[in-house]
Amino acid sequence: MATIGFIGLGNMGAPMAANLVKAGHRVTGFDLVRKAVETLQAKGGNAAASAAAAAAEGEIVITMLPAGPQVRSVYLGNDGLLAHARNDALLIDCSTIDVETARAVAAAAAAAGFDMLDAPVSGGVGGAEAATLTFMVGGEEAVFARAQPVLTAMGRTIVHTGPAGNGQAAKICNNMILGVSMIAVCEAFSMAERLGLPAQTLFDIAAKSSGQCWALTSYCPVPGPVPSSPANRNYTAGFTAAMMLKDLRLAQQAAGMTAVPTPLGAAAANLYQLFVDDGAAELDFSAIYHLIRKPDRKI
Ligand code: NAD
Repeated sequence: MATIGFIGLGNMGAPMAANLVKAGHRVTGFDLVRKAVETLQAKGGNAAASAAAAAAEGEIVITMLPAGPQVRSVYLGNDGLLAHARNDALLIDCSTIDVETARAVAAAAAAAGFDMLDAPVSGGVGGAEAATLTFMVGGEEAVFARAQPVLTAMGRTIVHTGPAGNGQAAKICNNMILGVSMIAVCEAFSMAERLGLPAQTLFDIAAKSSGQCWALTSYCPVPGPVPSSPANRNYTAGFTAAMMLKDLRLAQQAAGMTAVPTPLGAAAANLYQLFVDDGAAELDFSAIYHLIRKPDRKI
């Protein structure tokens, strides 16, 4: 069993750290929110007074932070992980951040002599609690092998995606597909309603035809056809519109960096920005159906 420092005990980090404790690892956690550290303690983990102190405890150090700026400061700051982690520590960043920051922090870690992986996840809070997350892992093959036993305590599907930053690349490419396809599904249901085609009929056909996709068959944005979809619980997230917007913005940042045209990705980012600005940040991202449908509009 490993000694693990865990930094960032929020909605995702808390259950992930708890699963590591459950698997028999010795976990020392830190978060800026004191209550989050106490919750880990109550589940059998240990408390640290700072990120540096948590890092100093671990053969493995895991971070699960909001975004790129926090990752830069926690790793590279004067009191950061590169200054305080054990010489032989394996560093794993599970946050969803921009590819550029992921590669810059990995390069700084390598220069300081550390093994490091970017390992963003999909599966949401439910997947974190059930230890069924998908990990998309960037970094060297041998380092990936070293991380496997710990990642399998938190997830079910662990994929090596290539060198540093490729985990983040996989995550934002996937979520750009999801954002665009959700909007396409919403447009189709909206048009079907105006044409007098029942939602269930469209679903029954498209779910078995070339329109089939996850946004339709697992996360249908209209109430009814898929009982487990957020549309049937007033769009309680799930995966919030704010998080979809964050990932679409990261995708646009990467598209700009690589000069790749992503006209639909850009349109999706702008639509989610309008939706979030309208006060919908905490709704499930499939609720964008209501922005597109506009029931009161006259033909
Ligand atoms: P969260 O805001 O609930 O948790 C982040 C935690 O980091 C907070 O508890 C915060 O106090 C802590 N933190 C911030 N700065 C810190 C610092 N300098 N030192 C120590 N702790 C610090 O966010 P979350 O939902 O847990 O998401 C974490 C990451 O996982 C994000 O990058 C998010 O995009 C990604 N993600 C989230 C989901 C989801 O469904 N929530 C799904 C997949 C990926």
